[in-house]
Amino acid sequence: MNKGDFKFFISKMASYYDSSKVIENQRLELWFEAVKDIDADALEFIQKRICADKELMPKNLPKYMLEHYGAWRAEQRAKRPKFETTDCPDCEGDGIFVAYMLNETAFRYCKKVFACGACENWRKHFGALECRIGPDKNIVSRVDRVTKGELEGMQWFAGYDRDYDSIQKVKELNDKMQVANEEH
Ligand SMILES: [Zn+2]
Repeated sequence: MNKGDFKFFISKMASYYDSSKVIENQRLELWFEAVKDIDADALEFIQKRICADKELMPKNLPKYMLEHYGAWRAEQRAKRPKFETTDCPDCEGDGIFVAYMLNETAFRYCKKVFACGACENWRKHFGALECRIGPDKNIVSRVDRVTKGELEGMQWFAGYDRDYDSIQKVKELNDKMQVANEEH
């Protein structure tokens, strides 16, 4: 959320609780720091939950905001349609490749995550990331999409690591590899 979203949220809370007490600026700043990562789309949900729950405006408002934000995120996750993976001769249904390339000058293997270009199973992994950082960001551009054939043509060879079931790991690894790739 941005500061405008936050101020609007605070003004709604103040109206609901009929609170004319002015919240000093420094306090607002500290509160904003604590909750700025909350998705603006979640604010209405959070406001309704707090208002249904508390008789008075909570003194530690960020604490309750974060708590209900967790509930909002769980609801969003549950709403997401289940993704059915299909058999794919390229990625074996995994949707991603963890590929390696020998860096001869550094005498080590570079590792990078690619999305499968032969099927749509990569959506299984990147759907979660989309949800986490917002649908307006172009996630797919962070991970190149290639077929196995293209990968081999590029001197990368595909491995089938199965421990990358968490999109966070995929993202972190890919970011790291992108840095590593830029360095070499
Ligand atoms: Zn595939």
